[in-house]
Amino acid sequence: MRARLNDVVAGELADGGAVPALTCYDFTTALAVVGAAEEAGQPVILLVAPKTAAGPGGMRLISALRGLADAASVPVLVQLDHAADPQLILAAATAGADSVLADGSSLEPAANAAFVAGVVRSLAGLDIVVEAELGALPGDEDDASAAAEADPAAGMTDPALVAGFLAASGAGLLAVAVGNVHGNYKGEPHLDWNRLGAVKAAAGTVPLVLHGASGLDEADLARAAAAGIGKVNINTELRTSTLAAVAEALPGMQAAGQNMLGLLGVWRGSAAATAAWALELLRPGTRNL
Ligand SMILES: [Zn+2]
Repeated sequence: MRARLNDVVAGELADGGAVPALTCYDFTTALAVVGAAEEAGQPVILLVAPKTAAGPGGMRLISALRGLADAASVPVLVQLDHAADPQLILAAATAGADSVLADGSSLEPAANAAFVAGVVRSLAGLDIVVEAELGALPGDEDDASAAAEADPAAGMTDPALVAGFLAASGAGLLAVAVGNVHGNYKGEPHLDWNRLGAVKAAAGTVPLVLHGASGLDEADLARAAAAGIGKVNINTELRTSTLAAVAEALPGMQAAGQNMLGLLGVWRGSAAATAAWALELLRPGTRNL
């Protein structure tokens, strides 16, 4: 069903939960994620990566996910993830996205805020929630191995910049860098909880977003939600489990009359199980901290 992203996030946050946002490179994965959310009775966000959005049929995928979201029995939202191209952002908003991450994190903070403010202006009247990222997250969104050499300490969000950045940018959600990385972690991840607390205090009512959640342990994720993270982006975990399940099933499906439907069933089952894991982990009101 249709809902406003910030209302959904605020509702989950109010009870100590967070909304999982799962990267869907295709419709099959999205079907599985929405099915898991309906089963759990919780809202979910379908993330579309910028390479997907800019690739063949990217805008049609966003429109298809919009239709899937509207038909769901729980609030489902569609977000264009990590976009730095204003044209792509406008196209995705027009195609049916509820939200975009206007990613100016490679810029200096003032230029980042100006970039986000420009996006907010360009989307005026479309009721689109704009997420911004302050600080720079190491690693590559689509390549889990790229974070192996990344140093999470570089580019962490500076709490002293947060209030000014939010006022100047008009962002409705703020992605933070507090020791989290995209892709697989090098060694044990260590989130900077003091920094997260200071960022949260400075952000006021603007909900915080944690990217790169795959690889954090369940206690860290629960603690992050309790510390005021309202949206948790999960990509690597979903890709890893789906590819492994498909690889294992593929020879059997080839032997069984080139069983494409069977293979897609395995794909959906695996993606749904990972989505169900994320939903349960971030479910409001079930935590024992
Ligand atoms: Zn991300």
